[in-house]
Amino acid sequence: MLLQSEIMAAQSISKTEAEVARKLGVSFMTYRKYAKMYGVYGRVSNGPCKGVSKPIKNEDAGKYPLNQILEGKFPNYSTNRLKVRLIRSKRIEPKCAKCGFCESRLSDNAIPLLLNYIDGNTKNKKFENLELLCYNHFFLNVNNPFGRRKTFIASEDIVQRDSDVQIEVSPETGNETI
Ligand SMILES: [Zn+2]
Repeated sequence: MLLQSEIMAAQSISKTEAEVARKLGVSFMTYRKYAKMYGVYGRVSNGPCKGVSKPIKNEDAGKYPLNQILEGKFPNYSTNRLKVRLIRSKRIEPKCAKCGFCESRLSDNAIPLLLNYIDGNTKNKKFENLELLCYNHFFLNVNNPFGRRKTFIASEDIVQRDSDVQIEVSPETGNETI
């Protein structure tokens, strides 16, 4: 049982909703349940996600310009590099498209999000086909029987390497192309 006052106190000293849960010593789901019950959920993560503050470089230049990748010009480009560049160039907000989860890991400041191809085709790198998902929603989405085929044969590998954010979603696109 969480009190509204406890929740609000923890929110006032946290940067993300996930951090609030940690400060309260409960799971994210438990925290969210109570925060929603009291109508105070979302007060923290309304602001922009913190955690990615590297200097901005021009991602639309170089051998694989990001704008051309997002027009579908380089279908074999690495999923992981694409994810990093999307976040770095601020084209995509570093948070889960379904639940807004955006906590960065304290250990290395990386954000545990996976790039999802909405139509299930990992070669379709057009911007409108891309979204970031947290691990929970990535697996929910991949395992959705009414959704699309299980094309992610690397999923077992992902489970084993849960703490490693540098994950290739597709073995086909796993090659570093830069
Ligand atoms: Zn999520």
